Amino acid sequence: MTIQLDEKLDPIYRDVLRRNPGELEFHQAVREVLETLGPVLVKYPEFAEKKIIQRICEPERQIIFRIPWQDDTGEIQINRGFRVQFNSALGPYKGGMRFHPSVYLGIIKFLGFEQIFKNALTGMPIGGGKGGSDFDPKGKSDSEVMRFCQSLMTELYRSLGEYTDVPAGDIGVGGREIGYMFGQYKRIVNRYESGVFTGKGLNWGGSLVRTEATGYGTVFFVNEMLKTRGDSLDGKTVVVSGSGNVAIYAIEKCVELGAKVIACSDSAGFIVDENGLDLNLIKRIKEVERRRIKVYADEVKHARYIEGNNIWSLPCQVALPCATQNELNGKDAALLVKNGCIAVAEGANMPTTPEGIQIFQAAKIAYGPGKAANAGGVATSALEMQQNASRDSWTFEYTEKRLQDIMVGIHRNVYETSEEFGMPGNYVAGANIYGFIKVARAMTAMGLI
Ligand code: GLU
Repeated sequence: MTIQLDEKLDPIYRDVLRRNPGELEFHQAVREVLETLGPVLVKYPEFAEKKIIQRICEPERQIIFRIPWQDDTGEIQINRGFRVQFNSALGPYKGGMRFHPSVYLGIIKFLGFEQIFKNALTGMPIGGGKGGSDFDPKGKSDSEVMRFCQSLMTELYRSLGEYTDVPAGDIGVGGREIGYMFGQYKRIVNRYESGVFTGKGLNWGGSLVRTEATGYGTVFFVNEMLKTRGDSLDGKTVVVSGSGNVAIYAIEKCVELGAKVIACSDSAGFIVDENGLDLNLIKRIKEVERRRIKVYADEVKHARYIEGNNIWSLPCQVALPCATQNELNGKDAALLVKNGCIAVAEGANMPTTPEGIQIFQAAKIAYGPGKAANAGGVATSALEMQQNASRDSWTFEYTEKRLQDIMVGIHRNVYETSEEFGMPGNYVAGANIYGFIKVARAMTAMGLI
């Protein structure tokens, strides 16, 4: 059952479908936002008059380019690179780069579109953008990754700048890739422009807490949602999907706040450890050895490894999808609710399908969409930019406190917006409406741009 779109919004959505054929994830992301904007146009008719929504749905600029590189055997490889500069009403385009074989324009556009609202929610001066490539870093040597990143940047450098467009990491892009891309950028422009990338290494302009920020932020957010219901994470059983950067630090913060995390996954399967996951072992397997999560069950005798993506069949009170888009469908959502899940916060971008969201909302469990719940990553990127601009570096404690304050503030703004628009506790509506109004006001002030 799909939600009916408001009569003003339906033609806008149809136009998005017509102009962006085949970009299914982009359609999904736009539809989810449009479904919540009806009451905004009633309250602010000037936004309809100025066609703000139509303008927001059209990226300011889209760059698609060839990335030729040579693998270790000397064979020539060709990948495709993307950077979608979606909206710069609030600041320079900001958003990560994703390297994954599934990447095509529709994925980068959905991510860039969500990034506009997410970045607005952080309260920091950053616009929305996203980039990436269909390059698969899995199984590639360090030198192959370096040559690929250098080739990518040889083209992309001309479109970036600390006041123009500031990339960071996402799936398949971590410290190693940022290093290679930043190095090539610096070499071409002959400027040490720290603020052009975030997620940099700690001894060359990076910020403490950036690595942990998305996962920590998601957990701060879920804890705030629980607080509004007179509850907390303490003593809860948690399931986290994924085992990348977001998942690992979500697990770490859950444990710090007194919860027990019993499972995490990768694209091949998931591990279950009823005693609570051994996080140091996971960090070694994933961050140091770059191996599959299956290895955990070889080393921990009482743990189980189960192939496939059935992780949401595990009974838990809190579920944190931290892997990838559309990893949690209607069936999974129904099972989670049936098994007693009371809160879901998205560390990944758009991990729950529209059917899944409807089921969570109908069951009235606390559901925090990625736009709000995973905004801690990009918010800390903005803190990294602040440190770079003032040539300063802050302590871990201070930076984490800033992150926590930002997440508490996002939760408050989103919750209050949901109340103001008559849907208390609907974090999807609250996040979309709050982010949209902020961007819409800036676009209105700047005239027809
Ligand atoms: N890729 C992350 C996100 O989805 C972080 C982007 C950034 O730090 O610029 O928000």
